[in-house]
Amino acid sequence: MRVVVTGGAGFLGSHLCEALVARGDRVACVDNFASGRAENLLGLRDAGQGFSLIRADAVAGLDVDGPVDAVVHLASLASPPEYLRWPLETLLAGSRGTEAALELAGRHGARFVLASTSEVYGDPLVHPQREDYWGNVNPVGPRSVYDEAKRFAEALTMAHVRTRSLDGGIVRIFNTYGPRLRPADGRVVSTFVVQALAGEPLTLYGDGNQTRSFCYVDDLVAGLVAMVDATGVAGPVNLGNPAERSVRELAALVLALTGSSSPLSYLPLPVDDPVRRRPDIAQAALLLGWAPSVPLEEGLSRTVRWFRERGPGHDAPP
Ligand code: UDP
Repeated sequence: MRVVVTGGAGFLGSHLCEALVARGDRVACVDNFASGRAENLLGLRDAGQGFSLIRADAVAGLDVDGPVDAVVHLASLASPPEYLRWPLETLLAGSRGTEAALELAGRHGARFVLASTSEVYGDPLVHPQREDYWGNVNPVGPRSVYDEAKRFAEALTMAHVRTRSLDGGIVRIFNTYGPRLRPADGRVVSTFVVQALAGEPLTLYGDGNQTRSFCYVDDLVAGLVAMVDATGVAGPVNLGNPAERSVRELAALVLALTGSSSPLSYLPLPVDDPVRRRPDIAQAALLLGWAPSVPLEEGLSRTVRWFRERGPGHDAPP
């Protein structure tokens, strides 16, 4: 297969490109390098014909030479501080960017996979979240630039499935972590690991009792690949690890794994920060035969090792 991955130089995208190339697919990675990084693609240097890079912004339209059998649309800022900083760009990535990716798939009769998000559930009133829960999103709050863009992207995808016979599918990705999270990304796992390794205070927002369910990147990518292969499956399908932890528990685990004695520092909770989040993954098991297998302690150890080896380095936020 030849697969186009938009956002292929990002955290998830680069791991997905590697997994696809490793199993013998050819991959065309499209990225505008807003949050993607060239260093994420170093492992693909020797892929030869198997990998190509197109530096382009999906929002401006997507034109890819040669055959296209599948399009996986990941391109978007995805870290709350970053999408809050770039609200209009985030809305356009979800709307025009998704439209361009859908049109590309449509022209080629290709399978299409939309990377949606657990944020479509907003601050959920139903727990754990099943795909048939419609969510609790503040449509005019600051986070809406991401939440509503992804909800619109889902609606657009389903309209193409219904009216244009697109073979499209939606995955809703819950919090994911692992090597290649950017140190300045602002998301909780990278932030805590970097702070702990530097001996700086761990910044807990609110009282730290809010929960998330963290999935190791290799598990998540296996789910994405399964969705690419699941011809005819539209979903939406939750992808995530249901093992739920509070932010405070995560901080304690990071301190234990790094051997750091960093103190905890409590800062205000961001507006509309969801109180709890945990995926119900029965659909992923049923439709994709998928379940995560890497426990948080193991995944975090690998992540800490990667950050240690990488060193502090420089990484400007977008
Ligand atoms: N968070 C925190 N300290 C940080 C960064 C994030 O306590 O330095 C909290 C944040 O308020 C949220 C959770 O950790 O409750 C996960 O945040 P993240 O930005 O990683 O992802 P989200 O699930 O909010 O999209």
